[in-house]
Amino acid sequence: MRGTLIVSLDFELFWGMLDVCPLEDYRENVLGGRAAIPKLLDLFQKYGIHATWASVGFLFAENASELAAYFPGEDCRPSYEKKDLSPYPRFQTIAGGEADAPCFYAPSLIRRIAAVPGQEIGSHTFSHYYCREKGQTAEQFAADIRAAKAIARDSGFDLKSVVLPRNQCRPAYTQILREAGFTAYRDEENDWIHRKIQFRPLQRGLRLLDVYLPLTGLGGSRPKNENGIWNLTGSRMYKPIFPPLAFLEGLKIHRIKTQMRHAARKGLTFHLWWHPHNIGVRTGEHLKQLEEIFAYYQTLREEYGMESRNMAEAALACARTQEERP
Ligand SMILES: [Zn+2]
Repeated sequence: MRGTLIVSLDFELFWGMLDVCPLEDYRENVLGGRAAIPKLLDLFQKYGIHATWASVGFLFAENASELAAYFPGEDCRPSYEKKDLSPYPRFQTIAGGEADAPCFYAPSLIRRIAAVPGQEIGSHTFSHYYCREKGQTAEQFAADIRAAKAIARDSGFDLKSVVLPRNQCRPAYTQILREAGFTAYRDEENDWIHRKIQFRPLQRGLRLLDVYLPLTGLGGSRPKNENGIWNLTGSRMYKPIFPPLAFLEGLKIHRIKTQMRHAARKGLTFHLWWHPHNIGVRTGEHLKQLEEIFAYYQTLREEYGMESRNMAEAALACARTQEERP
């Protein structure tokens, strides 16, 4: 079996950051992320990288009034205990469309991405939905997913792959995804730091170290079929340059390449992911690092036959392999 490189991007503009910081503090990253997308697409084409763009449903809308037409009824919207997680109140304050509110809408970019070979438009839910947050219900999640499917369908896309915001998966919710016709999702990294360390600050510290040093080993996984939907577990987030540890950037890229080589040799899947806004500042430096990674994929393709697939393609290939087994 050949190794597979999956690339996925959580495409959310500012919708995924509403509860993190004020827009003024992050506008440069979001707008820089938009500007980086065409350059990233050029690199994807140059190196034959297939990727899934898991897009927040709100991004598909041309403007606020079009978006509002897809909203679930009031009682079907997420009733999070932490009120600032819901984007619906914030929506009331955003006027206009993509030209006036480029941090919130992106239909032109979605069309541009979809026009590039190998790029899949996937889902990051309709409203950047948090599946493990207190206060919300499975019915509300199902309504969110229906809205995501509807707005994408009316833009000409049949969504097959999903990335759940903050990787908050739950078995009952994956069943809802399956019933809605999704064939793949990206679960969070399944390593000992995630499994065994419950104390959040320590978990964060160890995860940061693991970006540079092989604390969790070489990773890579084999896709699992969970009653009809493929779990394409994430292997590594491509972390943007962290200024205090900028002197370790060489180790970061070395670590990613080592993991890729391991997957290529062992016939495993290496799933690399990030957000466009992660590369919205210092874009040139980030694209240079990514180009080094993509060029390395080409080397592994020649040496081991490694293949780049988006999530839908990977799910399809897994299904075929499963059928061929005696
Ligand atoms: Zn997100």
